[in-house]
Amino acid sequence: DENILEVKNLNVSFRVRGSEIEAIHDISLNLKKHETLAIVGESGSGKSVLTKAFTGMLEQNGRISHGTIDYKGTRLSDLRVNKQWDKIRGKEIATIFQDPMTSLDPIHTIGSQISEVVVKHQKKTKKEAKKIAIDLMEKTGIPNAVKRYNEYPFEYSGGMRQRIVIAIALACRPEVLICDEPTTALDVTIQAQILDLIKELQEEYKFTIIFITHDLGVVASIADRIAVMYSGRIIEIGTCEEIFYDSRHPYTWNLLSSLPQLARKGEELKSIPGTPPSLYKKIVGDAFAPRNQYAMSVDFKAEPPMFKVTDTHYAKTWLLDKRAPKIQKPEVIQN
Ligand code: ATP
Ligand code: MG
Repeated sequence: DENILEVKNLNVSFRVRGSEIEAIHDISLNLKKHETLAIVGESGSGKSVLTKAFTGMLEQNGRISHGTIDYKGTRLSDLRVNKQWDKIRGKEIATIFQDPMTSLDPIHTIGSQISEVVVKHQKKTKKEAKKIAIDLMEKTGIPNAVKRYNEYPFEYSGGMRQRIVIAIALACRPEVLICDEPTTALDVTIQAQILDLIKELQEEYKFTIIFITHDLGVVASIADRIAVMYSGRIIEIGTCEEIFYDSRHPYTWNLLSSLPQLARKGEELKSIPGTPPSLYKKIVGDAFAPRNQYAMSVDFKAEPPMFKVTDTHYAKTWLLDKRAPKIQKPEVIQN
C-alpha cells in the first residue's frame, strides 16, 4: 500500500501576544491511499490545526516550526504562496467543516455554486456542468434535484446543506477528503445518514478520508485506523480493532470508558479529572502525566517515545517501557 501523505516530526506554532505557543508537537503520520483515518481528541487537542497544515490554511500567526509534510512527491511544508497551494487545496486535498454555511454562499443558488466549481475544475461548459451538478446532487441524496437546483442555501435543512458541501468538494475530484467534525452540528439520525453517504461515495470515487471527531463512538463504523490526539500530540495510533480492543494508553482508556456503548450497566461514566496542559508553559515529560492515574516518576521528567506495539499500533506512554510495572486496565474497558 502506498502512502499518499507523509508527515514527519511536525511542529506547528502560533505567535500570540509576543510569545510562541506550540499547538502541534512532533507528529509523524502516514496516510495510505483509500484508507479512512479518524483523528480523535478533546477540544483544543490540535485536530483542526494539524489538518489545516495539510492544506496551507493555518492562520497568519501560525507556522510550521519543524518537520515536513509530503503529498505525492510535493513537499507541502515548503509551499509558501497561495498560488502554489491552489493546485493542492480543494483540488487534491479538500476539507468539509462542521458548519456548512461557512462554505456556502447565501446569495447564490445551490445549483450555481456546484456548477461553478465543475466549470472551473473539470473544464466543462455551463450546460455540461449543470448536468454534472444535478447528478452530484442526486448522488449525495438530494430529492428533486432538478427543482432544488434553483433554491438558495436558506431553503435547505442543515443535513441537506452538508450534503451540498460534500457535492461541491467532490466536484473537484479530490484524492483526500478531510472531514472536520462534519456531523457534530446535526442530530443523531442525520449524522448517521451523512456518515453512510460519505462511506458510499468513498466506495465509488475511491478517495482517502481523514475524519476528525471528538466522539470516539462515531468512528467505529467509519475508520480503518484511529489516531488519538492529546495536547498537540498523537498519543496512540492503531487499527480500529487495536484501539477499541487492545489500547495501551491510559488517555485512550479514559476515552473508551466514557463511551455509553461500552460502559457497563449501572456503572458511572467517568470523565477524566483535570485539564490539558496550558500551551503557554513548556511541557516537561509526558503531557498527560498530571492527569494520568498510572503516572510514574519518569513521566514527569522525560517525554515518552512512540512505543511500537505492532506494525500498525504505536502508543506514547512509558507504561510500554520494559522497566514499567505491569498494570491492570480499568475494568470498564476490559474485553
Ligand atoms: P475542537 O474539537 O474544539 O475543534 P481541535 O482539536 O480542533 O478542537 P484546534 O482548533 O486544532 O483544536 O486547536 C489546538 C490549539 O491551538 C488550541 O489550544 C487553540 O487555541 C490553538 N490555536 C488554534 N489556532 C490558533 C491561532 N490562530 N492562534 C493561536 N492559537 C491557536
Ligand atoms: Mg477543531
